[in-house]
Amino acid sequence: MRLDVRGIINTPGDGIEFNEELDLSDVDFGGVYPAVRPVSVVGAVRNIAGMLRLTADADTTLSCVCDRCGTVFEKPFRLSLERMLAEELEDAENDDILLLDDGAFDLDELVREAFILNMDTKTLCREDCKGLCSGCGANLNFEACRCKKEIDPRWAALQKLL
Ligand SMILES: [Zn+2]
Ligand SMILES: [Zn+2]
Repeated sequence: MRLDVRGIINTPGDGIEFNEELDLSDVDFGGVYPAVRPVSVVGAVRNIAGMLRLTADADTTLSCVCDRCGTVFEKPFRLSLERMLAEELEDAENDDILLLDDGAFDLDELVREAFILNMDTKTLCREDCKGLCSGCGANLNFEACRCKKEIDPRWAALQKLL
């Protein structure tokens, strides 16, 4: 959604509220598309003493795949954004300020970028996930390893004698 803030740019105390659902199901993290549900984006732009301040909360439930055991699980995701908006930059060093384009900005693009930056680089179904056995593929969180212990033939022969 493109949000036009020209209506409040010259009126301190004024604000615009927004509430939308954003589709981020095409965001790809190494072949996994975690945002299977719409992302709810709620917030406002307020003119505070002549400065435009954007605040937004994005909320959804992600469908994740554990890096260790491959289990698919759901995880709540929440993100809070805060940005100052300006028509021009007074200080080029300050990249916290979002530059308006013709009195408007792309809210969806902003949330999409923040979403990508805030994703965990490592996804685990639980902190102490034991993963899969490299031998038999058993999910060691739920089942015992099925690998047969190889018995030394000499030891087997000795066992027979005993
Ligand atoms: Zn796991
Ligand atoms: Zn095993």
